[in-house]
Amino acid sequence: MTLLRHTSADQDVQREALTVNPAKTCQPIGAMYAALGLHRCLPHSHGSQGCCAYHRSTLSRHYKEPAMAGTSSFTEGSSVFGGQANLLAAIENIFTVYDPDVIAVHTTCLSETIGDDVPQIVEAAIDKGLLPEGKMVIHANTPSYVGSHTTGFATMTKAMVDYIAQSSGAEKIRDQVNLIPGWVEPADMSELKRLVKLMGLDPVTFPDTSGVLDSPQTGIHEMFPAGGATVDSIRSAGDSCHTIALGPICSGPAAKALFAKCQVPQTTLPLPIGLKATDQFIMKLREINGGFVPDEIMTERGRLLDLMTDMHQYFYGKTAALWGDPDQLVSLAELLITLDMIPKFVVTGTPGKKFFKRMGDVLGDHAQACKVDQGSCADMFQLHQWIKSDPDKVDLLIGNTYGKYIARDEDIPLIRHGFPILDRIGHQHFATVGYRGTTRILEQILDAFLDRQDRDAPESGFELVM
Ligand code: SF4
Repeated sequence: MTLLRHTSADQDVQREALTVNPAKTCQPIGAMYAALGLHRCLPHSHGSQGCCAYHRSTLSRHYKEPAMAGTSSFTEGSSVFGGQANLLAAIENIFTVYDPDVIAVHTTCLSETIGDDVPQIVEAAIDKGLLPEGKMVIHANTPSYVGSHTTGFATMTKAMVDYIAQSSGAEKIRDQVNLIPGWVEPADMSELKRLVKLMGLDPVTFPDTSGVLDSPQTGIHEMFPAGGATVDSIRSAGDSCHTIALGPICSGPAAKALFAKCQVPQTTLPLPIGLKATDQFIMKLREINGGFVPDEIMTERGRLLDLMTDMHQYFYGKTAALWGDPDQLVSLAELLITLDMIPKFVVTGTPGKKFFKRMGDVLGDHAQACKVDQGSCADMFQLHQWIKSDPDKVDLLIGNTYGKYIARDEDIPLIRHGFPILDRIGHQHFATVGYRGTTRILEQILDAFLDRQDRDAPESGFELVM
């Protein structure tokens, strides 16, 4: 199916009520992804089987790993009378059959519209003795008629703080730092932990999908893979000396909740994609560790800088269209500006008050030359119309799989980045954060440009060295 190829560029009309191919997915998908980053946790979708099937399949198709989850399996009866009986039965069955340490319940549009009170149902489950000793049920409200998958991720991450984190009342542990990595790939979470450890600090990382959604093939099915943040480690987050939240949308709410609950000072930083944002991350860690940066990190930074210098001649003045999650977009746009490229069109379906300001800060003098939009009508249709109506076609598309229709229709190279990537395999194994991760993005961008140059070159201009 092509993406509305038949529409013409002048059909970029103002809309208030119609979304065509949204640049976001639904809240519970994010809640489910966050819950999979908790060791021995079974996510549970409180709603219909159809919702749960969609959430699980989207995660499974992106990560190429089974995304385990339960569902309250609403029927017509539960839609009318509420889903309490279904959730009670589910809690009992899940603990009996699968024996997780935690069930992480998230709501859906239907259970929110009915008005099911999940904390009250969990209380009822405790009263009925359905929770075995030492087990717990946490919850997040994730109606999908507000927010997006990123806010669902944030809400479930905050639930980990609300339900689990504690302060022992003792002095804060000087070298223990909470790392809330935001919605990134499992390989990114590993990379972030590596950087924190290299800086001489002990990261309490949550959620942490490394070792869960990039787990090795052993020939044995593990219902609960070895990775993920343990309940004990999250419990100790209240004793950490600092919290670093990466991305205000995905990680900010949990960091603020932890400060309110356990008085752990927090700093919210942009996702460390690109030179500047990674510098900010490392400098914050340097403040916490007493002021040193190991040679290994300095070398990685130097390599990135060298690569940027070597590649700069190809990047200068090139334009790109971006779509996806706000935390990702802000850092990606900053990276492109650093490379002397222009992020000409940027859209995100995720609502939120500060996105325009954040993008404005990053774009600086380029703001006039860029179109940025957000919300329900900032969709893939709008992006396509912007690209069509621009006399100078953008040189590059960066975003999730849904952009492949625009790439095909407009014959523009596409770099897959963000969520979901449904038509490529292996991306969860390659970090794009930190200095090392950024080199991967640079390589992808330059390859896209040079592949295009090779493809379009006449025989007389087909060069071995470019
Ligand atoms: S009904 Fe709501 S929660 Fe369920 S799949 Fe659709 S948007 Fe998501």
